[in-house]
Amino acid sequence: MTNPLAVLQSPARYVQGRGATDHLGQELAQVGITGPVLILSSAAPLRILSRTWSETLGKANIEFSVETFSGECSPDEIDRVTAAGKAANVTAIIGVGGGKVLDTSRAVADALGVAAVNCPTVASSDAPCSALSVLYQDDDEFLEYRFYKSNPQLVLVDSSVIARAPTRLLVSGIGDALATWWEADTVRRSASENQLHGQPTKTGTALAHLCYQLLKENATAAVAASNLNVVTPALENIIEANTLLSGLGFESGGLAAAHSVHNGLTTQSKTRDFLHGEKVSFGLVTQFVLEDRSTQDFDEILSLATAVGLPVTLAQVGLKKPTAGQIHHIAERTVAPGETIHHEPFKVSATDVADSIWAADAIGREWLMSRENSH
Ligand SMILES: [Zn+2]
Repeated sequence: MTNPLAVLQSPARYVQGRGATDHLGQELAQVGITGPVLILSSAAPLRILSRTWSETLGKANIEFSVETFSGECSPDEIDRVTAAGKAANVTAIIGVGGGKVLDTSRAVADALGVAAVNCPTVASSDAPCSALSVLYQDDDEFLEYRFYKSNPQLVLVDSSVIARAPTRLLVSGIGDALATWWEADTVRRSASENQLHGQPTKTGTALAHLCYQLLKENATAAVAASNLNVVTPALENIIEANTLLSGLGFESGGLAAAHSVHNGLTTQSKTRDFLHGEKVSFGLVTQFVLEDRSTQDFDEILSLATAVGLPVTLAQVGLKKPTAGQIHHIAERTVAPGETIHHEPFKVSATDVADSIWAADAIGREWLMSRENSH
């Protein structure tokens, strides 16, 4: 049965800016974390940030230990870090790195029943603020959403660290964020459940809309800043859109077809070299076909996506000459029971999805061709 109550959930505190890591100690104290804490970090941020951690946590009198991430968010890795956290009697787990590190650190915090703190070093997806992890099988095929009891206690985003990350990751985050408003809008229109199994609040839906506004106004300038590894107001706006607004927007606003098409695409090994937000971008074009959106809507997202280099065709997500069988397989996975595509305001079959994928691909190719010719 659908929950009639409207629900909104968020991290307890969100902090963003140049050099934010310098403030980690006082920010932990601000949310009542006194330590000891365990930092789970991937290797690169460990090299860049470990001296800053010693200074800021030292000043706040917070004891800490560090574990280097093994590279995979696997049950073994979760068990290993959980054991380390238990031995050190920690009161919080601080994940520092990309999506997999943060997912692992939140799973560990959940297992230990302690506070989760996320310090994303890339703005590549909307996961850091949410209370759920996306689990993949070892071969990168989508497995399931794992839900936690609460959102992180603190999300701290150091913009100077994000500016130094590869631009492709920021662009992928823009792809994930680009779908947020359109999926939330669908959930609102169909009165479906958000990702918290409640009705979306006006607030959740409005945050998704603000996310889209910021993308329209800042995406290309932010990509230029990222290419130069510099922090500008446009980059700050896109970090906020990709991380905070898309995070709150998808969770409290809800998901629809675009993310299900993404999940369908992950069944194909050829899409594995492509990032989450890149596949979501093509998923959004497919959602637009399904929803029979206006030419104006199509033009708006196609121009935004292609301006920053996001995929709008099958070939751009690794499927150069897909067979009808492959597309059908993707479509079947897209409409699996429990998928968010069933939040669309009409019934969707695998045949509907397969046809929409072919049509989306043709629209995307035509768009790219018309751009080329106009240059
Ligand atoms: Zn996503």
